Amino acid sequence: MTQVRHRRLSRKLLQVALLSALAVGLLLSSAQILYTLHQVRATLDSDAKRILSMFRDPSAQAALTLDRAMAEQVIEGLFQHESVRRAFIGHADEPPLAERSRPPLELPGRTVTDALFGREHSLSVALRGQLPDEAPVGELRLCLDTALYGQAFLKDALFLLLSGLLRALGLALLLHLIYQWLLTRPLERLLDHLGRINPERPGEHQLPLPKGHEHNELGQWVHTANRLLGAIEHHSQLRQQAEHNLLRAAEHDALTDLPNRLQLQTRLQRILAEAGQRQQQVAVLCLGLDDFREINEQFGYPCGDQLLAAVGERLRRYAGQVQCLARLGGDQFALIQNDPQQPYQAAELAQSILDSLDEPFELDGQPVHLRATLGITLYPEDGADSGDLLQKAELTMTLAKRRARNRYQFYIASVDREMRRRRELDKDLLQALACDQLHLVYQPQIDYRTQHICGVEVLLRWQHPLHGPIAPDHFIPLAEQNGSILPIGAWVLDQACRQLRLWHDQGLTHLRMAVNLSAVQLHHGQLPGLVAELLQRHRLPSGSLELEITETCLMEDVHAAAEHLLRLRQAGALIAIDDFGTGYSSLSYLKSLPLDKIKIDKSFVRDLKTEPTLEGDAAIVRAIIQLARNLALQVIAEGVETSEQERYLISQGCDEGQGYLYSKPLPARELAPLLHGNLPRERRSSPRE
Ligand code: C2E
Ligand code: CA
Ligand code: CA
Repeated sequence: MTQVRHRRLSRKLLQVALLSALAVGLLLSSAQILYTLHQVRATLDSDAKRILSMFRDPSAQAALTLDRAMAEQVIEGLFQHESVRRAFIGHADEPPLAERSRPPLELPGRTVTDALFGREHSLSVALRGQLPDEAPVGELRLCLDTALYGQAFLKDALFLLLSGLLRALGLALLLHLIYQWLLTRPLERLLDHLGRINPERPGEHQLPLPKGHEHNELGQWVHTANRLLGAIEHHSQLRQQAEHNLLRAAEHDALTDLPNRLQLQTRLQRILAEAGQRQQQVAVLCLGLDDFREINEQFGYPCGDQLLAAVGERLRRYAGQVQCLARLGGDQFALIQNDPQQPYQAAELAQSILDSLDEPFELDGQPVHLRATLGITLYPEDGADSGDLLQKAELTMTLAKRRARNRYQFYIASVDREMRRRRELDKDLLQALACDQLHLVYQPQIDYRTQHICGVEVLLRWQHPLHGPIAPDHFIPLAEQNGSILPIGAWVLDQACRQLRLWHDQGLTHLRMAVNLSAVQLHHGQLPGLVAELLQRHRLPSGSLELEITETCLMEDVHAAAEHLLRLRQAGALIAIDDFGTGYSSLSYLKSLPLDKIKIDKSFVRDLKTEPTLEGDAAIVRAIIQLARNLALQVIAEGVETSEQERYLISQGCDEGQGYLYSKPLPARELAPLLHGNLPRERRSSPRE
């Protein structure tokens, strides 16, 4: 296309040069021909006049003497000239003295020359004697044939025309070459370079300056075009950069620079499509940090962000093993593992991630321990599309967190069923109290100094009409969410106080009752009033009712908790901090809270196997007991199942113990013999609750 255009310009230039040179050539040739025509006419006339004057005197002599022979001789002389066609010597009114003519010359082109010069050119001169004013004695008439002159003129004209045309042609060719050299060639070369420019990177290829044109308009043109190309490149680079940044911002999380949820979904869709074709499995792992809210509250949000970025960095170690690593938002991350041969490979990955989080993070030079819970879904078993798989993985993670933390769990169809059941339970729970489905069991607490039962913890049970017994770990969070924990909690308190009164009446006046409180109850303004009223109504001495509040619940809002605890204490209750060691309490918080007792969480007691061990859980238990001592608090261990555990606890100075070693939680009736017999060492613990 460009080539054709090139040629069009050069052909046009050639045409213009040729036509104009031809026109000028023709014009000039015509002028020259006209001039020649004029000259030939003049030559014809002057030739005729010259001949006449040459032969006038002898002709006059012959006419004067009437010498016919002489006249004949003169005529003979005249006819020596090729062009003389007719000659006449004599008097006009008399017969000629001598006369002669010859036929006209038959030459090619006559018709043209006759038109230009006439067929003949005639002239005559009067013949006189010696004296000037003498009367003429006759006349000499001459007629010239114009053919020879015409012939010569035609030759000249043809030459003029041809040479004119040739000159014009040469000029046109020269002009064309000059155009070619000065204009079309450089233009063609520029066009060629322009055609080679990559529209994506226009500044990459600079147009060359045509030689010899550096300082003229063409050079100027190239300079300007190059500057323009550079500017276009610069702007397009800026635009590309901006587009790239925008795209990245839309697809990446600003804090960790990992792909965000949107990007993860897009990639997951692609991965699933490929896996579907190859009939491969895909595992979607959703990771949620455990108790990250507490970390944020304890250290502040900027530190929380710093930690999240560090977690993202640590997860990058697995980038090589997974197809995609993303931050879903908040404290949640996701990993996509392509083609795990067996689900255990996904489990191995999950475990190795959990292990990698064991290494503490650093925050302002302080080590911070983070744990996480993972939910795992598998394609194609658990879902066919990306949204479904991701949602189920998140759901699995959330549900796994409710049961226990720092672990992974696979999604199975039963999770779905569990969710449905939860909703159903939620509804049923609202009627459980009214329908008499709730009852209480009691678990004794042993004083290690006397080896006697010094108290009991009351634990709530729900006997569902359809599903049978439901664990409190399961339904208490539901009750907290739907608000039914308030009437249920009040009922538990009332029942527990009533039971304690009964036991006191039976002579067990040293017995203390421990009741669990949930956060919702603690922050309810009427609780201290209720406690005071119950103690009074059931005539219970202050200090006989102990309220257990979990560590995490207290740490949610330390100042409000301190205030509520103080009022509960003023109402006559003792305060124990439950599940101690699983939260993030700091020493200064503990000091600021009005507490009576610390309850070591059963997870630390569980692994106290051999004695004496100073590693791991044993060291923690020892430290907690030491801490309680320093703060002048009582300390009780829960979940004591073996004599080794008991021995270690006693050796470390633990005040009290509670657990299956002494008794499972039992209904009041079944616990009575134990209480009255006061025989914990016989371990007559019933295997049945
Ligand atoms: P918790 O307060 O930590 O209660 C102790 C749990 O440990 C009880 O589980 C008890 O049965 C179990 N346990 C006792 N001894 C042992 C042992 O030697 N080994 C092991 N492995 N476990 C032992 P339970 O009854 O299922 O209660 C679970 C949780 O439900 C309680 O944990 C408490 O947080 C909550 N809860 C129970 N009753 C109430 C209640 O009336 N009100 C409130 N707000 N929460 C309650
Ligand atoms: Ca408890
Ligand atoms: Ca506990």
